[in-house]
Amino acid sequence: MLADNLQQVQAKIAEALQLRKDKDLVTGDSVTLVAVTKNHPPEIITDIEALGIANVGENRVQEAKHKQEALGKHGYWHLIGHLQTNKARQAVALFDLIESIDSEHLLAAVDKEAARIGKVQDILLQLNIAHEEQKSGLEKEDYLALLPKLDEYKNVHVRGLMVIAQKCDDIEETRPVFAAGYRAFVRLQKQRPDIDLLSMGMSHDYQIAIEEGANIVRVGTALFGERDYSLKF
Ligand SMILES: *Cc1c(COP(=O)(O)O)cnc(C)c1O
Repeated sequence: MLADNLQQVQAKIAEALQLRKDKDLVTGDSVTLVAVTKNHPPEIITDIEALGIANVGENRVQEAKHKQEALGKHGYWHLIGHLQTNKARQAVALFDLIESIDSEHLLAAVDKEAARIGKVQDILLQLNIAHEEQKSGLEKEDYLALLPKLDEYKNVHVRGLMVIAQKCDDIEETRPVFAAGYRAFVRLQKQRPDIDLLSMGMSHDYQIAIEEGANIVRVGTALFGERDYSLKF
């Protein structure tokens, strides 16, 4: 079941990559699949790892901590949900890549906690392009104001950008959002040539995100089925 789902997702990723191959995008010609395991029991991480997937996405610090304590930490952990400043210390201890940096305040907190333990924390800046209600992410003005200050934060390594599209009935409506994410990435790369990661796309829209330039997709439901929100960690 899981193996079949994974195979399907990987086939669709390959299909989408094929569609973009002549565009010569700066985000390269491969995609990292992050298995989003939130609201599923810890064992599914073991299952997906056994199928060769090393990238795990969680959206809550507490849940990730519980799962790492249960299983030990292997692989590469992505924090994809909104992070509260007061959880920055735990997040830095648990995650390899914090994808959801959505304010300078949070960036400063992560930088401080990383410095405390002598880590350089990989991060993505999350942009609010879709402007869906209650979706976090940096607004354009705040993002542009933050860019010149990034180098003040010595204990974070900005690896790129993260974008979440709006929910909509016609997924083609997400395409302009992902295209804007890619353009922002290209502009940022001119200033910061070492950025390399553009995280865009989830179960319902990852193919479009890849066509528009994503090189990380975050997929939960298409791999594991519906989440069980009654699970408490
Ligand atoms: C939950 C979540 C996902 C995965 O969503 P699916 O629709 O289950 O693939 C991806 N990205 C973020 C930021 C999420 O919170």
